[in-house]
Amino acid sequence: MVGAALACALAQRAFSVVLLEARAPELSWDEGGYDLRVSAITRASQRLLQNLGVWQAMVDDRVTPYEHMHVWDRAGFGEIHFDAADLAEPDLGHIVENRVTVRALWQALPRAGVQVLAPAQIRALSADAEGAVLTLADRSVLRAGLVVGADGARSRVRELAGIESRGEPYDQHAVVATVSAELGNRSTAWQHFMRDGPLALLPLQRDLFSIVWSTSPQEAERLCALPADAFNELLTAASESRLGHLTLQGPRAAFPLRLQHAEQYVRPGLALVGDAAHVIHPLAGQGVNLGFLDAGALVDALVAGRERDRSPGALRTLRVYERGRKGHNTATQLAMDGFKHLFSNDSGALSLVRNLGLGAAGRVAPLRRLFEKVALGYGLELPTISRPPHPG
Ligand SMILES: Cc1cc2nc3c(=O)[nH]c(=O)nc-3n(C[C@H](O)[C@H](O)[C@H](O)COP(=O)(O)OP(=O)(O)OC[C@H]3O[C@@H](n4cnc5c(N)ncnc54)[C@H](O)[C@@H]3O)c2cc1C
Repeated sequence: MVGAALACALAQRAFSVVLLEARAPELSWDEGGYDLRVSAITRASQRLLQNLGVWQAMVDDRVTPYEHMHVWDRAGFGEIHFDAADLAEPDLGHIVENRVTVRALWQALPRAGVQVLAPAQIRALSADAEGAVLTLADRSVLRAGLVVGADGARSRVRELAGIESRGEPYDQHAVVATVSAELGNRSTAWQHFMRDGPLALLPLQRDLFSIVWSTSPQEAERLCALPADAFNELLTAASESRLGHLTLQGPRAAFPLRLQHAEQYVRPGLALVGDAAHVIHPLAGQGVNLGFLDAGALVDALVAGRERDRSPGALRTLRVYERGRKGHNTATQLAMDGFKHLFSNDSGALSLVRNLGLGAAGRVAPLRRLFEKVALGYGLELPTISRPPHPG
């Protein structure tokens, strides 16, 4: 998602772009089912996709706006409810299947003039301020002013560049599935913080939700293997029946969760974006949104560098991107990490803080507003492509 968005944006700004992809994505599927991988797309990401000219195709395909978000804690004291109407907004964001985003972007790549090589695997890489030389598995050689690693958490580009990535596995896996809810979706995203991890219910169409249930690896394995009826009972209990009875509507899968951050985002002739640079806990649904902000910031830096006649691989140009994004990504990672530990700790003091925290957030208007602005992607130093249009 992040690499294809960046490729489109750069090609639309008259950069010459080649996109290398290890596995060309499937662009047709049975429309009756839902992708197990969905993302909550913030307003800033929506604007980026609008400015790339792909948002309407995604809407025509299938996206689900949500107007409310309800977060509560296992102890039952702390609750926050976010309402788009309080902000005079039509919604708080959209739940989008990853394959819908990928299809719209992949259809836009040739229109933007991006040359796509897929399947393609990098075997060797050297990069300096003059540019990068890539050797592919079929021994062909590519030369470029800049190589961008947008190749996910286990980035080969990062590895070949020798950039360290610090991190650790969370002792959690996320179980994902599509379920139906007896009480319908009420245009609400729900999140229940429990001791073993948060349960998120993200609204799809009609009465359907995509769930992301973070729990211990052993419990995740058990949940995926249980008969459907037993799974439905446990899931309904975990949601405290707030949406009535929940019923599985297809397969389940589990993903291991990691915290990871690259030591550097840039080297002469090379940059990392998206999960190649940082991986965070999915509890606030920020992963791909941070990646889109990286893409937008790198576009701004490269356009500004070109205006000063600098080559795209010049470290001065790339550092502007790194400075613009690393702090924000670190702060978001720390916040998610803090949330995860806060809610999985049983100590009385933390429990008190936790309940006061959620309770206070529910009551104090400015704090609520801050939460809502983050959900909407506002209140940040946004790249040009993610900003609202100028009034008038
Ligand atoms: C359970 C779960 C729920 C999530 N929910 C949300 C959410 O609600 N909102 C949100 O914003 N984020 C969410 N995320 C995070 C989000 O999915 C990731 O942040 C996002 O997919 C990262 O996008 P990316 O393009 O950087 O990397 P990826 O999606 O990992 O894409 C990397 C691409 O690079 C290709 N590639 C890999 N290696 C090579 C190679 N050697 N050569 C060529 N190509 C290669 C891959 O085929 C792939 O196409 C969730 C994650 C999980 C696990």
